[in-house]
Amino acid sequence: MTAKKVRHILDTIATMFPDAHCELHHSNPFELTIAVLLSAQCTDETVNKVTADLFQKYKTPADYLAVPIEELEQDIRRIGLYRNKAKHIQSLCRLLLERYDGILPEKHEQLVELPGVGRKTANVVVSNAFGVPAIAVDTHVERVSKRLGLADPDDTVLQVEQKLMKKVPKPEWTQTHHRLIFFGRYHCKAQNPQCGICPLLDVCGEGKGRMKTPKKRKSKE
Ligand code: SF4
Repeated sequence: MTAKKVRHILDTIATMFPDAHCELHHSNPFELTIAVLLSAQCTDETVNKVTADLFQKYKTPADYLAVPIEELEQDIRRIGLYRNKAKHIQSLCRLLLERYDGILPEKHEQLVELPGVGRKTANVVVSNAFGVPAIAVDTHVERVSKRLGLADPDDTVLQVEQKLMKKVPKPEWTQTHHRLIFFGRYHCKAQNPQCGICPLLDVCGEGKGRMKTPKKRKSKE
């Protein structure tokens, strides 16, 4: 893909979603980490509903360890995989207290060592909480990047991230991450991408293919 085409894609999604931002509610890096951990296989909307109460009750790592795990499970039970997530949260809080005095570390390599914190979560935290440019590849970023040809269909999540980092100028990494998420969440959706009104149809092989393939119609018989 040419640099001109990449620029066209970045400028177009910037025009469509100039104010794209992290939609997980949080007021500090620790809360953001908990919110991202909870968001695996769950919508941001549901996480925000749960954290509205959760963050009132638990302010510090010590607070999460002061209750039995069953109580924490109950507090996040509306979220998928809540038992595992409760376990990860308490392990994460224990490690934060043991190694970092209860303060979330800022470095990516330290963050990925925390229980329940993978590469994607660490990228979200360093970019949103500490101002370090990063591209976190979630399901939307992966799908959109592959559809638009910014990555190849068989690429792993890590390969998608590496390709995006090569193609997108570093100062634009974090904002591009947010814009790709908004683009995937509200326009190029998994099931019903809006190809017919997409300003990127001219550069999108996937979209052109979809526009050529007539939708299956229900038989009247
Ligand atoms: Fe997504 Fe369709 Fe636009 Fe391609 S043309 S980016 S598949 S909405």
